[in-house]
Amino acid sequence: MRTALYPGSFDPPTNGHCDIIYRAAKLFDHLIVAVAKNPFKESYFTVEERIAMLEEIVHDYDHITVGHFEGLLVEYASKVNALAIIRGLRALSDFEYEFELSLMNRHLSEKVDTIFMMTDEHYSFVRSSLVREVARLGGNISDKVPPVVEKYLNQRFS
Ligand code: ADP
Repeated sequence: MRTALYPGSFDPPTNGHCDIIYRAAKLFDHLIVAVAKNPFKESYFTVEERIAMLEEIVHDYDHITVGHFEGLLVEYASKVNALAIIRGLRALSDFEYEFELSLMNRHLSEKVDTIFMMTDEHYSFVRSSLVREVARLGGNISDKVPPVVEKYLNQRFS
């Protein structure tokens, strides 16, 4: 059983995240989408809300599950027997951070490798914070997030 882990804040999940989830899921027997719980990073949606949104997003896929973790990613990866950590890359600006993160994770554990997946051209400028800001200002984000996320954003800003 080849398991991969797709960690992130998902605050909230966007179509860019979904695209990576569905593409990565084709490559592995089991994909765990894991919400990072970071007490030092202020989040907009609670971990429970982010998990609920992701669970609806992966509802139709038996081999995709949703988890959460706090602390070292490599420890969580080892606990769930993940072979790979999936990360998405958009513009060059993502590269430096992702590069450092993957090297640090490799330094911490050689048992898990990071695999980068390039964004789909339609989502290269889609990020959670931008989606939140547009939704807050009343802009249309229906083609940037899945329907369940649009519902949560509308509820929050109505
Ligand atoms: P984090 O706080 O861990 O960066 P994010 O939820 O912002 O969490 O992102 C999780 C992962 O998904 C990161 O690797 C990020 O680069 C990737 N990602 C975010 N948005 C997109 C997108 N539109 N296309 C491809 N990858 C994306």
